[in-house]
This record gives sequence, structure tokens and C-alpha cells, in this order.
Amino acid sequence: MRRIYLDHNATTPLAPEVFEAMKPYWLEDYGNASSIHWYGQRAKAAVEAARVEVARLINADPSEVVFTSGGTESDNAALFGVAEAVKPAAAHGTRHVITTSIEHHAVLHAARELERRGVEVTYVPVGSSGVVDPEDVERAIRPHTVLISVMHANNELGTLQPLEEIGRMARERGVTFHSDAVQSAGKVPVDVRKLGLDLLSLSAHKLYGPKGVGALYVRKGTALRPLLYGGHHERDRRPGTENVPGIVGLGRAASLACERLDEEAARWRTLRDCLEESVLDRIPAAAVNGDPKRRLPTTTNLRFDGVDGEALVIALDLKGVACSTGAACSSGSLEPSHVLAAIGLTREQARSSGRFSLGRSTSLEDVDYVLDVLPGVVEHLRAVSPQRRNGTLGHQLSAVSKEW
Ligand SMILES: *Cc1c(COP(=O)(O)O)cnc(C)c1O
Repeated sequence: MRRIYLDHNATTPLAPEVFEAMKPYWLEDYGNASSIHWYGQRAKAAVEAARVEVARLINADPSEVVFTSGGTESDNAALFGVAEAVKPAAAHGTRHVITTSIEHHAVLHAARELERRGVEVTYVPVGSSGVVDPEDVERAIRPHTVLISVMHANNELGTLQPLEEIGRMARERGVTFHSDAVQSAGKVPVDVRKLGLDLLSLSAHKLYGPKGVGALYVRKGTALRPLLYGGHHERDRRPGTENVPGIVGLGRAASLACERLDEEAARWRTLRDCLEESVLDRIPAAAVNGDPKRRLPTTTNLRFDGVDGEALVIALDLKGVACSTGAACSSGSLEPSHVLAAIGLTREQARSSGRFSLGRSTSLEDVDYVLDVLPGVVEHLRAVSPQRRNGTLGHQLSAVSKEW
């Protein structure tokens, strides 16, 4: 069967160039980057070359790039690292962190843990566009605010947040500013200086690199306590023997992204817009979730009234098309997406949404194939259980699961 992968926001395939770059570091150049002999020097040189590439992707200095185990660790290192670096006494007896209601769980759940440890947290809401208003962030600042963390691109909607405005304000007020740029890096330009960032998270497997490796940008002079304790790796910011093949892979993925960004973004946008416009044209009672303009070029989050999103994902999977209902990590949970709830969708509307995320392998033929099968699938699911009649979409899931 023909297989089409439209879930690039969950993870991307490894680029062949990345695989080639990593290979020697498993088999031949396997040294520990801290060793002083030839093997160690080879590994160390590779890690430092990768650091230069990652720095180039985000316009940082290589000395400001810290390698981690991925986006989740980078986010946790930023939130806990800043909160721990400021003594409560120095912050009016307590500390306050500002984030948004549409963050990835790697930020949201870390923020909840901070609350449990006595840090105050404000979750700035977003409107129906899925874009946070910088004025709402500014209004949330208190004398003891130590950190603002706002994601660059939302993983479910693709919406881009106004980081430059928030960054300017954070700088004026002397508040440390972090962004989870896991979804935007490699898809849109990311410039830590222009955006006014002190900290930024990225992850290799969202930009055609390997899973289990990422980076945290730490602007020179940013007060940050480490998450882990051990050796003196990564300038004492992140101990542990470096994942050399992974780091090499991230470096190569970053350099490829730099080279291809403009050209690929234009191609993705054309294909995404073609998919979206044709879907809206051919399928009745369909709508786009989130701001259609301020968005990644790769992502469309679509709502089909009267269709169970999970049943849709399964029905499309049976036709060889892989998409998702939102965050990969939340699937299987019965709770509707916190992002779709945050933009004001009802439970029913949130449940009837699906995310299609395009990538390097996506072709016009893929989009055509989806456009061939999707209208029929939606019609079929609506026929199995018309929402108006019984008010539930449960039948669709059980009907389609039997074939799965
Ligand atoms: C995938 C993702 C993460 C987590 O990154 P991992 O490397 O998988 O831990 C964090 N934030 C966003 C926005 C993501 O999309």
C-alpha cells in the first residue's frame, strides 16, 4: 500500500546526509570527547564542529550552545535552571514565572512542578487565533518575575508567537526570556539576537536529525543552575559523556536546515496551502484551527464537524495516510487537547480536529492522494454516526477500529 507520512511535527525521518555524517562516530571514531588521546580528540573536534553549526542556525555564539538529550530536557533545564538560580529572598520572598496556556507539556508540566515547589506561575491565555498577545504577557509581569517562557511555534496549530515584542519587553524589565523553538527551528528563521532570547530549546528529531539529542542556547551571562550534577562537560552546564553520534547528527541536521530553509519553506507553504484550500473546498463543514497567517509553512490543523478525530486518524491510516489528532504524546488520553481548549473550541470541536504536518518527503502526489481519499473518509464517518442524532462520536471510533 502507498504510505504517506503527514506527521512531521511528531517526528521527522533522519536525513540520509545526517545518517552518513553520524556513521563513523558509532564504529571508528568512538572516543570519549573528554579523553586526551587521539580518539578523544577526534570525538571532541566533531562535537565542537557540531556546536558551530547549531550556533549558526540560531545566530548564537558556539560557546552559548549546550547539548542535551532533547527538547524535553532543554525545556526543563531552562525552567528549573532559572527558578533555582534566583534565591526567593532576592525575588520578594517568592519567584514568579510567566508562560502560556498552549505550551508543550515539556514546559507546562515543568511549570506545574515549579508551582508544587512554591514558585508562582501565570499561564497567559491565547485568543481563538492561538497567538499570545504581548500586552497580556506584559500585564502579567510582577516585581518578582524571574522568567518568561513562550514557545516559538505551537506544535498542534503551527501558530507563531510574537517573540520579538516579548523579548524587547523582557529585556527592558530585566526578566530572563526562554522560548521552546523545537517546532520552528529549521522551518522558519530563528535568530536569538533578533528575538531577544536568553534561552532557547531545540530538538534534533524535529529537524531531520536523530532522536534523543537536542540543545539549549544559553546567552552569555544568563544565571542558570544545572539540572544534573556530575563531570565538567559542556562548561559545567550539562554533565555526562557526550552523545557524540547524536550531536554530530544534530550538527549536520542544523547545517542542512541552514542551506535549505528558504527553498523548502516556500515549497512546503505551496503544498500545505493547496491541501488546505482543496479540503475546505471539497469537504462541507470543515474549518482551519488557529491563525491562518501567523503559522509554520508545514502545518494545518483542520476541524471536521461531526467527525471523531481519532476515528479519522485510524480511517486514514487504513488508507496509508499518517496524520494525528494533535500532540503525539497526548494521544490515547481521553482529554481533549489543551491547546484546542485554550483557543476556545468546545470539547466536541476539539475532538473533531486533525493535524496534518508536511515535510521534506511530501510531494504534490501525496497531497493529491490525500485529497482523493479524505472527502470519502469524512463522509463515511459522518454517515456512521451523525452527531446531530445521538450527540456522540463514539460509534465512529468503534466502527473504524474493527477494521484497523
Ligand atoms: C517535540 C517537542 C518537544 C519535545 O522534544 P523531545 O526532543 O521529543 O523531548 C518540546 N516542545 C515542542 C514544541 C515539541 O514539539
